[in-house]
Amino acid sequence: MKDPATTTGLLVVISGPGGVGKGTVCQELLKDGDLAVSVSVTTRAPRPDEKEGRHYYFRTRAEFERLRAEGRLLESAEVSGNLYGTPRAEVEKLLAAGKTVILEIDVQGGRQVKSVLPCLTIFLMPPSREELEARFCRRGADSAQVMAARMALAVEEIAAAADYDFVVVNDELARTVTEVRQIIKTAREKGDGI
Ligand code: 5GP
Repeated sequence: MKDPATTTGLLVVISGPGGVGKGTVCQELLKDGDLAVSVSVTTRAPRPDEKEGRHYYFRTRAEFERLRAEGRLLESAEVSGNLYGTPRAEVEKLLAAGKTVILEIDVQGGRQVKSVLPCLTIFLMPPSREELEARFCRRGADSAQVMAARMALAVEEIAAAADYDFVVVNDELARTVTEVRQIIKTAREKGDGI
């Protein structure tokens, strides 16, 4: 039995190529009261359905650079021309409160977090290349050039999967979420990341 006074939460990094469904999986995981998903800072413009402070903290590049220079980001990376970062204070506060904190971040960020903090890392994998292409198509009418760039980035990210503790194939949402929950539960019971 762990001493409650020294018990802290578990940090979980979830990565995977764009289109694999990370956001949906994380939204499902959030339904567990003991889990929290960290809200990132980004310089990307909000999409129509996105809310400040809920999906992201939307900031200018200058504001982002200042946060980074002040050491207020746990990790940061540039993805497709936009900057993304994890606010340090929020994550530390949640971990101190014993929460399991999910970081839904790209593979560059995953590498940085792993080098500075104990964490559990999970990579969400599409069932196949064809399925990923089909998901990109369903997302909207992008040009062939944009699609090719997305696919190239996805292939690059998939190459980093071997560095993760677990690879989970996102073939069917409910099954994937059950598997991820089980991985997290086992890690918590073993006291990983503490
Ligand atoms: P999107 O713009 O589609 O929301 O996210 C683009 C990519 O940025 C995704 O791979 C997402 O996981 C990643 N991302 C989101 N927030 C962060 C963050 O705080 N840090 C890093 N390194 N990547 C992030």
